[in-house]
Amino acid sequence: MAGRRPRKADSVSLERYHGKRRFEATPEPRGRAPRRSRSRRGGRYVVQRHRATALHYDVRLELGGVLVSWAVPRGPSLDPARKRLAIHVEDHPLEYFDFEGVIPGAQYGAGDVIVWDWGRWTPDKSIDDAEASVRAGELKFRLDGEKLRGEFVLVRTGRRQPGAKEQWLLIHRRDGEIVRGWDAEDHPESVKTGRTNDEVAAGQRA
Ligand code: MN
Repeated sequence: MAGRRPRKADSVSLERYHGKRRFEATPEPRGRAPRRSRSRRGGRYVVQRHRATALHYDVRLELGGVLVSWAVPRGPSLDPARKRLAIHVEDHPLEYFDFEGVIPGAQYGAGDVIVWDWGRWTPDKSIDDAEASVRAGELKFRLDGEKLRGEFVLVRTGRRQPGAKEQWLLIHRRDGEIVRGWDAEDHPESVKTGRTNDEVAAGQRA
């Protein structure tokens, strides 16, 4: 049912996403109601480099019919010693997966966005319900993307507080695919279009 507007009853997890945005003013997708996932065995992931008020990388995993999302200020690393703060943010619609563009000045998240990395994510073998793992505050998984590769863990650090933004850490686990000193900022181009954030901001065509 292409183009169907989200129905209230089945779009609960996108309420926060919709509540923050005015879709007549931002090029971001409105997104349709979550379609329940067909598989608990992972899916696509995307990392967007988002130059808003503060630069951050948005790590999004396709899970339960939405993109479950964390904002990582310093970006993911392939170095296990570089543990990265990851703020759990609102679920995004699947249509956000390849969004790249400019969010205008007065809007939520104003700034420029590139598709910094994408690929597949797979939950650790020990996990049979990844959504439950996220609720419980620890998700072990593997990434197979163009920049990121190997075993990672996302783990909630503080106690859960209603309304407060949850702080997590994103850590590359010690496996055969670590790269010491690896820094996201050394790999600045979009995997979708080859553009940098500056080029997107300047309106350069893909
Ligand atoms: Mn963001």
